Amino acid sequence: MKVDHILVRYGEIALKGKNRNEFEQILKGNINQALREIGSARAKRIFGRLIVEVGDEDDADQIMARLQNIFGIVSLSKAVKTTRELEDIQTAALYMMNEDLTAKTFKVTARRSYKQTPLNSQEMNYEIGSYVLRNTEHLTVDVHNPDVELHVEVREHGTYLSAGRVMGRGGLPVGSSGKTMLLLSGGIDSPVAGYLAMKRGAVVEAVHFHSPPYTNERAKQKVIDLAKQMAAYGGAVRLHLIPFTKVQQDIHQKIPSYYAMTITRRMMMRISEQVAHEQRALALVNGESLGQVASQTLESIHAIEEASSLPVLRPLVTMDKTEVMDIAMEIGTYETSILPYEDCCTIFLPQESKTKPKLEKAKMFETNLDIEDLVSQSLAGKETMLIKHQDSTDEFDDLL
Ligand code: ATP
Ligand code: MG
Repeated sequence: MKVDHILVRYGEIALKGKNRNEFEQILKGNINQALREIGSARAKRIFGRLIVEVGDEDDADQIMARLQNIFGIVSLSKAVKTTRELEDIQTAALYMMNEDLTAKTFKVTARRSYKQTPLNSQEMNYEIGSYVLRNTEHLTVDVHNPDVELHVEVREHGTYLSAGRVMGRGGLPVGSSGKTMLLLSGGIDSPVAGYLAMKRGAVVEAVHFHSPPYTNERAKQKVIDLAKQMAAYGGAVRLHLIPFTKVQQDIHQKIPSYYAMTITRRMMMRISEQVAHEQRALALVNGESLGQVASQTLESIHAIEEASSLPVLRPLVTMDKTEVMDIAMEIGTYETSILPYEDCCTIFLPQESKTKPKLEKAKMFETNLDIEDLVSQSLAGKETMLIKHQDSTDEFDDLL
């Protein structure tokens, strides 16, 4: 016997009323896209919920691990399918209970949507439970607070048994909330911001500003790696690499140094907005957290945000750096983010910046720049790539 199904539970989706159908379709699509990387298992909608059918060649644990990264899933359980015959159900129940040797107590909960069975649910609980007890040594029954609840669901064409619950990440399926454009630096914060936007169902594309030859190939590769890690949670990430050298040189020459940071950010906003329009994204996302650094005071945020008319989502706005770092470590971006390659801003920007820049002053200094020309030059050099998540098994394949 083998785990041949995985039950997928989703919460918030069900609350969305008439959108439910659409949401399930999106979640199913996302699950299948992720599963395509690792084998033949696919999700199906059966009895108003999602069930993954695990093929003979597939590894249920590997599938569970992959699905734990898919937003919209609240929890997952392994399941086996058998006939409606009591003997078969008992055998399957014993198999399921032997799968988890850490459990000491259990309880059987049988439900019948097919009622023409010789036994009712109570009787089935008893017959299945006592069979498991007779054939194991490590288990006792606890009906109030069991370590494992064995669900038995009798349907016309067969019986599903499931046990044990692994938590998913919750959130909403990516693609159910429209598209956003993330400003992705090589730092710790912006990948986490992108991850959290994905968690709420947004498709995330990314723009990254680099300044060759002052920033090198390794700095670029670092951002590609970050996008790849984010793609584990949101499907493929479209990454737009934007040359920013000319903008920074002009700012360096023509803007007083204490307004350079504000105006650099305003230029990033303008260019990002254009890319967002092109790609039909409805909002920008960045990694700002209130008060974290000079560019993230309210005065600064106010003076920078004005340069674009798109809404700016700031998933990290209320977080402390340590909270952001915890998430970065958990999602696997931290190690990449702390690699010490030069970022465009660290090279050109002066040590001291205004912590309380004035919008009017920023606008006045900007008249020294040919903004339209700088924006279109940067956009003309844009390089776009579609970054996919490569599951670790692929890397192992390369080594073999
Ligand atoms: P991060 O860790 O994300 O770099 P940070 O705390 O270092 O954030 P800043 O460097 O001030 O803060 O950047 C604020 C935000 O501006 C970043 O979170 C990111 O969204 C955006 N940003 C900064 N530099 C770049 C860049 N080179 N390309 C794209 N976006 C950038
Ligand atoms: Mg940074």
